[in-house]
Amino acid sequence: MKNKFPVVEIFDSIDGEGKRTGYMAIFVRFAGCNIRCTYCDTCYALSPEDALFYFTKDELLAKIRSYPWKRITFTGGEPLLQPLEEICRILGDEGYDINIETNGAVPLFRHRPKGVFYTMDYKCTGSGVRKYMRTENFRDLTQDDVLKFVVSDRRDLDDMKYILDTYFPTGGPKFYVSPVWGRIEPVELVDYVKAHGLDRVCVQVQLHKIIWSPTKRGV
Ligand code: SF4
Repeated sequence: MKNKFPVVEIFDSIDGEGKRTGYMAIFVRFAGCNIRCTYCDTCYALSPEDALFYFTKDELLAKIRSYPWKRITFTGGEPLLQPLEEICRILGDEGYDINIETNGAVPLFRHRPKGVFYTMDYKCTGSGVRKYMRTENFRDLTQDDVLKFVVSDRRDLDDMKYILDTYFPTGGPKFYVSPVWGRIEPVELVDYVKAHGLDRVCVQVQLHKIIWSPTKRGV
């Protein structure tokens, strides 16, 4: 549908991961993704045809404003496949704190609107899509942003360390590592971080998968 945003779901819940973990936010999940991770847990949002709603810009803004929260998480699928810049600019001017969860395989905004921060994935080898990662995006990440590694095994942990050593010997965004649910035990992440002295890396688990069932949607 031309000029409409394909949306799978909108809901409010706690942010289950990242720097706002545990705080209430509005979630907008867009339909459509440009890659196919082996462990994708949102297979219902991979194609634009998965959309259940088609919103104009004004309809989407009205829906967002109907919630009492000033935090928003744009996710997917891949939200940056949508022309989101104007919406972000409007929401940023209204005081929203905007988290864009992006898969690392699309360019970031050329001019970042006020209020926007990125939670960007770096897909490690176990994802099957590492070759699509845009390391060019790294230079646009600030200390307000998050670079997140979702790891399946020891090789993925080594990938993470390689990225840190190579691209961020000092400084950079906030670094998080979390396990692919069911593939690796969280304790292995802690052991790795400890063994390698990675004091800049925060180990996390997805809180919503603990509070609710790992497959529950809309939470
Ligand atoms: S980037 Fe996200 S939505 Fe796309 S395939 Fe990977 S896990 Fe699924």
